[in-house]
Amino acid sequence: MISILQACCSTRLSPSWVSVGIVFALSAASCGETRRDHQLDFYALGTEISISLFGVSDVQATRAADSLQSMFADVGHNWYPWRPGELQAINESLAEVRLPIDVSPRLATVIRRAAEIEILSIGRFNAGLGHLTELWGLHDVTNPPSALPDPAEIEARIRGGVGTELLDWDGDRIVGGRTFLLIDLGGIAKGAILEDSVQILRELGVNHAIVNIGGDLTVLGNVNGRPANIGIRSPVAEKPLASLDVAGGETVVTSGNYERYVEIDGQRYNHILDPQSGYPVEHTASVTVVHEDAMLTDAASTTLMVGGAKEFDALTDAMDIEFALLIDSSGDLRLTESMVERLHWLQD
Ligand code: AMP
Ligand code: MG
Repeated sequence: MISILQACCSTRLSPSWVSVGIVFALSAASCGETRRDHQLDFYALGTEISISLFGVSDVQATRAADSLQSMFADVGHNWYPWRPGELQAINESLAEVRLPIDVSPRLATVIRRAAEIEILSIGRFNAGLGHLTELWGLHDVTNPPSALPDPAEIEARIRGGVGTELLDWDGDRIVGGRTFLLIDLGGIAKGAILEDSVQILRELGVNHAIVNIGGDLTVLGNVNGRPANIGIRSPVAEKPLASLDVAGGETVVTSGNYERYVEIDGQRYNHILDPQSGYPVEHTASVTVVHEDAMLTDAASTTLMVGGAKEFDALTDAMDIEFALLIDSSGDLRLTESMVERLHWLQD
């Protein structure tokens, strides 16, 4: 009993986690029932992860820290094409046409969801563009190409189609289809990880939390009885452009041209590629999407970046996105009608 009390009363978060914000205790009846707010911050997937837990016990916070940290480490290896792990091995097997390829169930689900969204997005979303990402040097921005890629090389990497929708499956096994692609889940993985994080928290009995992966977040429950109020980043200024209340179960994702880019001959080329042309998108600065389906939210923000203002209405309709905001490269806005009603502007 004593050891349990000691364990639950102390902050036993692993060193890479910061536990701050013992904001208040709802009950002091026993250590195990004391519930308070915890802030868990760490670095993973190349970005800041920030997890706010509201009204949880120290034991729940500790378990959440352990489970989430290990899940993030796992997907950081196994879902990233340019690090040894499952996705890299799958891509190698595809390149050598070594079929069939067994895929672990969750990763198979994410790849098949990407394929569905490729169809839904009329090809603007494409999770098979890894060869193109490599050509533009966008997989390793510390080592940009010295000159623009040769247009013939660009064309060669998209010729005939490279979407994951062209893979054939038997259960969780890739059995055929067009295998000239390099699967890159960068446009959808954050959504899947947000979904998995919320699932882990629910299983630990956590009912109220915000999971934030570098600004993309899912709200679970509420913030001490109030809805979470979230700021939307401006693509040009550090301060938020607008804010909105986000309900439990909703995810907010922003894709932006400022997030990742290479500079070639003094010009910036950002990480979102148009699957039709093979060139980085230039017409759009950022897109924010709010939806209850985290994977769809993530993929939709990438899709709308590719479609731009011109295809905004058609793509939000096709993907059933009620809440979206697009800022084009001249600073002009496009919003869905429902998004207009939801936003509180913080800047002119
Ligand atoms: P996001 O920040 O969610 O918009 O995702 C951008 C990432 O998705 C890029 O870094 C690439 O890994 C990948 N990506 C780039 N272009 C596309 C595209 N047209 N469709 C799907 N994924 C893409
Ligand atoms: Mg995305």
